[in-house]
Amino acid sequence: MTFKAHLFGSYDNAINFMGRKTDRPYGHGRATRIIRTDNGVGVRYHNTIVVEYLPNGIRLNSGGYRTMTTKSRINDALDCIPDVGRVFQNRGIWYLMSTVFFDGMIVGYDGRIKGQNKRQSDKRIKEVNKQTKSIKAYTKTIADMIQNGTLPAPSLGDCLYCQFREVKTGSPLGEVIQHDHIALHLEESYIVGSLIKRAIEVYGSMFVKGSISHVWSGQPITDWERDILVRDVPRMVARYIKSQLAIAN
Ligand SMILES: [Zn+2]
Repeated sequence: MTFKAHLFGSYDNAINFMGRKTDRPYGHGRATRIIRTDNGVGVRYHNTIVVEYLPNGIRLNSGGYRTMTTKSRINDALDCIPDVGRVFQNRGIWYLMSTVFFDGMIVGYDGRIKGQNKRQSDKRIKEVNKQTKSIKAYTKTIADMIQNGTLPAPSLGDCLYCQFREVKTGSPLGEVIQHDHIALHLEESYIVGSLIKRAIEVYGSMFVKGSISHVWSGQPITDWERDILVRDVPRMVARYIKSQLAIAN
């Protein structure tokens, strides 16, 4: 068999490609594999089956990670299905044709999108627009707090989903058990030290990590350091919140 993963285009091709194997390389680095699933064949990127070849079509799932690579894996699969186009992004929202992308959506091998629902699409667009505005206000508040020295440090009084970590992975509980705590923090303009800490942990440079720990332990920092924190920390928090709310960057 000479099929490449992104050239399957049908359930039979995917099944034939796997033969008796349960796991094969995808051909774009090690993070992506092609695996047998209970119902068909999956393209797994990290821990998420982003594309699953089922008898009635391909099932698409970002796992909440609306990243360039996830989009690219999904588009590899869509490229060999006729008349459906590719996933594209506009103002933080992913679309396929005129449908808002949703996790679990199935595209038939004839290019028809199953389970299309205009009302749900409209609702999601409204939600993302509203949340995008809230994120701007939220991170503006953080910038102001850094500027005038009132940024809250992570504390035992913080939201439990932001604060407590899963032992196995070290990830905050809110990332592990999908909870809407972050949407609530936005609504309530509740600035959570533990959330800021996590955003910096994931996206911050060594420099920012060092400076913020000085701020939180009450040590002086230079004006120059403060300027960099004011510029960078709000961006990291925005990026983190978007990743948690499945808003594309
Ligand atoms: Zn929280």
